[in-house]
Amino acid sequence: MSINYSEEQFDELLTTSSMLSEDTNESSLRPRTLNEYIGQKKAKENLSVFISAAKMRNEPLDHVLLHGPPGLGKTTLAAIIANEMNVNIRITSGPAIEKPGDLVAMLTNLNEGDILFVDEIHRLNRAYEEILYPAMEDFAIDIILGKGPAANSIHLDLPHFTLIGATTRSGQLTAPLRDRFGVTLRLELYSIEELSQIVNRSASILNIEIDGEGSHEIASRSRGTPRIANRLLKRVRDFAQVEADGRITAKVADRALSRLDVDKAGLDAIDRRMLRSIIEYYNGGPVGLDTLAATINEESVTLEDVYEPFLLQNGYLTRTQRGRCVTRKAYEHLGIEYLGQQELNL
Ligand code: ADP
Repeated sequence: MSINYSEEQFDELLTTSSMLSEDTNESSLRPRTLNEYIGQKKAKENLSVFISAAKMRNEPLDHVLLHGPPGLGKTTLAAIIANEMNVNIRITSGPAIEKPGDLVAMLTNLNEGDILFVDEIHRLNRAYEEILYPAMEDFAIDIILGKGPAANSIHLDLPHFTLIGATTRSGQLTAPLRDRFGVTLRLELYSIEELSQIVNRSASILNIEIDGEGSHEIASRSRGTPRIANRLLKRVRDFAQVEADGRITAKVADRALSRLDVDKAGLDAIDRRMLRSIIEYYNGGPVGLDTLAATINEESVTLEDVYEPFLLQNGYLTRTQRGRCVTRKAYEHLGIEYLGQQELNL
């Protein structure tokens, strides 16, 4: 089945919803070993110690919780752990587990040492979470068959496996689940230098000709996120092929990214709409996230998970107890005069 988009719809799709989804051939760009995995120095160093120690003891790795905004490399890291530990990985996600039987089937089908990767683990049904507690702690589950006096409890031993959970919001995990992860790794937004390396690596895999300034331009407009860097690289390549000689330079990248509505600071149409709405309708804030989401017709989870981390980290937005406020930097970026009287806007 093919879907036809107008150029405008396509651009919209590119810079908004697609930020959340997987790119079609993303897998070819995924690094396979810790050495190939660029950035996240702290997480990588710790992980490599845990992996070596587990291998020396000939034991599976302790359960790992990965958290950070979408597109930072959580799934990639889980696959790398499996590769480094030399074990199989089974991939599922919190919302995909629709009934307890789904989870039981996944657990009982694992082999000794295997990794079960549960993406968006904060969206796992709370009632099913309880199946995970004894599975993670004692490598066993108790299943109750039937009801009332005729009910029968069956105890099933599981292989020693490693659960890797990924979440964009570890705060939403229940304490009992969070406590059962022996290793918690927080992934940070990437620096421009790291993203440049990622862009160069992806360009060489995809046979795209790019110079240093071209990759720097894309990296500096990718909101600290490898998935966005890779996606922008592919789109800029399209412009380079059609409107230039195929080679990506800073000038070609700049023109293409501007056409894609990604500004110099990497903000896209939704980022700007978010900041502008807080200024225009709420006098710079504070405004509650749900109110803001309704104003700009977006989902609050999307704003919170996808847009806010970058805006907060780069000082365009602050989060207070009473809601979100924009900063002076946001006014300046949008070219709106900052009058300085808004409370809580520093
Ligand atoms: P998440 O699971 O956190 O949403 P992914 O693991 O799917 O993110 O990563 C998205 C894409 O970004 C991957 O296809 C991969 O090519 C790229 N990527 C992520 N992290 C790195 C990294 N550290 N080095 C190189 N590429 C990366």
